[in-house]
This record gives sequence, C-alpha cells and structure tokens, in this order.
Amino acid sequence: MRFVRFLDGNTPRYGVVDGTEVEVVSPHPFVGSMRRTGTRVPLAGLRLLAPVIPSKIIGVGRNYRDHAAELDHGVPTEPLLFLKPSSAVVGPDDAIRYPTGMTNEVHHEAELAVVIGALTQAVSPELAGANMGQPGAVIRGFTAANDVTARDLQRADDQWTRAKGFDSFLPLGPAISTDVDPAALSVRCRVNGEVRQDDTTASMVFDVATIVSYASHVMTLLPGDVVLTGTPAGVGPVVPGDVVEVEIEGIGILRNPVVDRELERTPRPAPNVSPN
Ligand code: MG
Repeated sequence: MRFVRFLDGNTPRYGVVDGTEVEVVSPHPFVGSMRRTGTRVPLAGLRLLAPVIPSKIIGVGRNYRDHAAELDHGVPTEPLLFLKPSSAVVGPDDAIRYPTGMTNEVHHEAELAVVIGALTQAVSPELAGANMGQPGAVIRGFTAANDVTARDLQRADDQWTRAKGFDSFLPLGPAISTDVDPAALSVRCRVNGEVRQDDTTASMVFDVATIVSYASHVMTLLPGDVVLTGTPAGVGPVVPGDVVEVEIEGIGILRNPVVDRELERTPRPAPNVSPN
C-alpha cells in the first residue's frame, strides 16, 4: 500500500494510491481504526504534502562504506546518530531554500526514510522489524528523503545541527510505502536529470531494524517520527536553479527545486517613523 498526504481545499488528508486515483482514508494511517472512505480523487494534479509531520527526525551518518570513504572517514562501529528539526521538513515539489550568505556548499543526500508507526522504547532489532508495514508495528512504512546538508558548515562544526538544520533541508515523500522490503531497494539521486547517486540499501553498514532498535534505546520513538538511514556515495553540490530528484524503488520520485532564499524573501515594510 502507498499512502499519500494531500491538500483537499485547505484540509490535509491521507489517501491510498490505487492506480490513477487516490482513495481517502480516515482518520490517518497511524491508528488501527483507519478505514477507507470510498471517496476517490484523481492522483494527477493533487497537491501532495510531506507524507508525515514528525516530532523528530533521527539521522544516521556514514552508513554506506563508499560514502564514508568519499568524505575521508571510516565507517563507525555503531550507528552515528544526529537530529534534524521538524521545521526542516518540506514536501514533494516544495523548494529547497538555499541559505545564501551562510554556506557556499549545499549537498544532496538521497536516503531511505523509515516512518515509525508506534510508541517505541528500547526494542530489539527483531521487534523493530516485526510486522513491518502493518498498523501498530514499530515500522509503519518507508518514504524517500533528501538529507540536505551544508557540507562546509558540517566540516566547520563539531556537531551537525547547523549544517543539517536549515528550514527546507529535509524533503520527504512522495508516499509512505508499506510493502517494500528495505533490504535491497535501489536508491538514486539525479540533479537536473543527471544521475549523481545510484546504489541499493543492501550496501548499508547497519540495516533498518538495527538502526531503529539502536535509536529506541536512546529516545522514545513516536508514531510519525522519521529515521533516516544514511546516503550512498556520490553526494555533491546543488545550487539555486537546480532540480533534485530522489528515487527509491517501490516508493516513487521526490522532486524539489532549489531556490535562493534571499531572493524569495518579501521586502521588509518601510519603517513607520518620520525620517525627520
Ligand atoms: Mg545523510
């Protein structure tokens, strides 16, 4: 099953993709009482939203050997966790807003993202991976993510809050897929149609269940939380004017333009005081 979240007028709703249509579900995929309503809308032309608004996003660094090597690092002996703020989340087709003046090196990072389905604390890898994709399971499904990173700031700082925390630095979508096997999914990134990253999740150092289990021993995971699983080799720069696509097998294509956030700002109103 693939869930999308979309705007119906001004109201966000969840639906299940069924061919060229979406069937609205109620209330949402994170409760066992979710039901299909029978109301169907054409998928084409729907304004898709980020498929989930997480309370937190847990990232894992250097989880593909070739990517760790390209940044001159070895692979960690246990998952290397970091956090991204929920304010970084944007949806399909939303702009990645380049923080001009604060960074000169913004990189794409295509990643498989885990969507948590249940309140989860200190679970084993076996329990983390049990009943994957089912309502009430620790893992409700998977979506695509772009863990956008200001690489120059990441190098400059001992921790990565600034480099990975800018608004719009976490595109998510286009759907939550509940029936993919995360062991060997192709993960690709294209910039302006050119392939930059192309690998499979089989190259991960720590698998999905291990990462979720590990994170759950640090902090309680809540339904809708997102756990990123690291990026393959091939990361590189994007600049305003580029279009970035993350494509994950069985999930879809997450496409986002890059814009200069300074050029997007609305002009400040003139001060309401007399100059004399
Ligand atoms: Mg990453």
